[in-house]
Amino acid sequence: MRSLLWFGALVAVALGTETFVGHQVLRIFAADEFQVEKVKELEALEHLQLDFWRHPVHSEFPIDVRVPFESLQGVKVFLESNGIRYSIMIQDLQSLVDEEKLFMSRQHFMPRSIETFNYASYHNLDEIYDFMDLLVGENPKLVSKIQIGKSYEGRPINILKFSTGGSNRPAIWIDTGIHSREWVTQASGVYFAKKILDGYGKDASLTSILDNFDIFLEIVTNPDGFAFTHSKNRMWRKTRSKNSGSSCIGVDPNRNWDAGFGEAGSSGNPCTETYRGPYPNSEPEVKAIVDFVKSHGNIKAFVSIHSYSQLLLYPYGYTSKKAADQAELDALAQKAVEALTSLHGTKYRYGSIITTIYQASGGTVDWTYEQGIKYSYTFELRDTGRYGFMLPASQIIPTAEETWLALMVIMEHTRDHPY
Ligand SMILES: [Zn+2]
Repeated sequence: MRSLLWFGALVAVALGTETFVGHQVLRIFAADEFQVEKVKELEALEHLQLDFWRHPVHSEFPIDVRVPFESLQGVKVFLESNGIRYSIMIQDLQSLVDEEKLFMSRQHFMPRSIETFNYASYHNLDEIYDFMDLLVGENPKLVSKIQIGKSYEGRPINILKFSTGGSNRPAIWIDTGIHSREWVTQASGVYFAKKILDGYGKDASLTSILDNFDIFLEIVTNPDGFAFTHSKNRMWRKTRSKNSGSSCIGVDPNRNWDAGFGEAGSSGNPCTETYRGPYPNSEPEVKAIVDFVKSHGNIKAFVSIHSYSQLLLYPYGYTSKKAADQAELDALAQKAVEALTSLHGTKYRYGSIITTIYQASGGTVDWTYEQGIKYSYTFELRDTGRYGFMLPASQIIPTAEETWLALMVIMEHTRDHPY
C-alpha cells in the first residue's frame, strides 16, 4: 500500500500536479471548548500541512480537515490521546479527484450553442469563458460581457450584464467562485445565466425584475485560482499573487476587502488559507469589483456565493455589532431559505456571519454593506461535508436550481422595496 501511494505521488510530481493520494478528510467532533482549543493547537502546527475545510470555532460545529498521508497517524494519535471523537469523511481524496477528472473527460466536447452546453458537468476556465461568449453571441439584446479588470496573472476578469435597456438602472450583483476550489459555485453561476436568459419574457416575476433592474453576474471571480484548480491543485482556494518575503503564494480574496481589514478573523501569515494580503484591495480580483461597484453607484443587492455548509449569511463578519438592517435582512434570509428548502428539502441555517459561523474580517459583503448596499448576502452552498469541495457533478443542477429560488426571493424583495 505504502509503496503504491508513493508511486502515485511520484508520477504526479513528474507531471507537476499536486496529488492527494492517501489524504483523508476527517470530521472532528470537539465535545467542549477545551477540545476545540486542542484542535486549534493542531491547526497551529504548520509542518502537518493540514487544510481545514471547516475551522475549529465552537464545540457545536464539527470541524473538517484534510490530512496529508504523512500526517495521518500523528493527527489520529493526537485526537485519540485527547479523547476527541472523529470520523473519516473522505477515505482517499485522490480517488474522488480521479473520479471527477474521468467524469469531466467523458463530458468533454465543445458545445455549439447554449442549448447543447452541459450544465450537469464541471467545466474549466476556457469552457466557461466560451460559454459566456456563446451566451452573448446568441442574445446580444439581453446580455453583454464587460471586462472589469485583469487578474494577477493577466487573465481577463469578465462579468455578464443582463439588461433590457435604460441607463444606469438599479442593479443586482451575483458572484461565484471567489474561492476557486468551490466548484459547485461557478457551475451554479453558469446555470443562473441560462436561467435568466430563459426566464425573460416567460417568467413574469423575473421579467418584471429585468424590466427595472440590470443583473451583473461574475461567474469566475478568481480566474487564476480557478485555472490552477484544474491544472495543478484541485484544493486551491486563494488568488495566485506572489507574497514579498515569503515563498507561499496567494491571498484569501474574502479577507482582502476594506471592512475591518486586518482584525481578528483573518491571518497575517502568507502561508495560511486566510491570509488577508498586505493591504486592502491588494488583489486585482478584489480591486476590479471595488472599482466597478463604486463607479456604478446604483447596486441595490449584492450576493457573493461560496460553498460549502448550507448557510445564508448577512453582515457583519468582522464585528459583533448588529447591522442597522438586521431585522429586515434576517426576515428576508428566512424567506429565501424557505424557498430554497421547498424544492429538495435541503436544510440551511441563516444569520449574521459572526454569529452563525465565526468572526471573519475583510469579507466581501461587510464591505458592500458599508458601501450602502442594503441587501448584501453570502451563500454557502451544498453540502454539509459528505463531499465538501468535491461535490459530485450529479448535484450541480439540484444545487443551482434550489439556490435560484432563494435568489429570486432576494431579487423580488429588492425590486419591491426600493431605497
Ligand atoms: Zn469560500
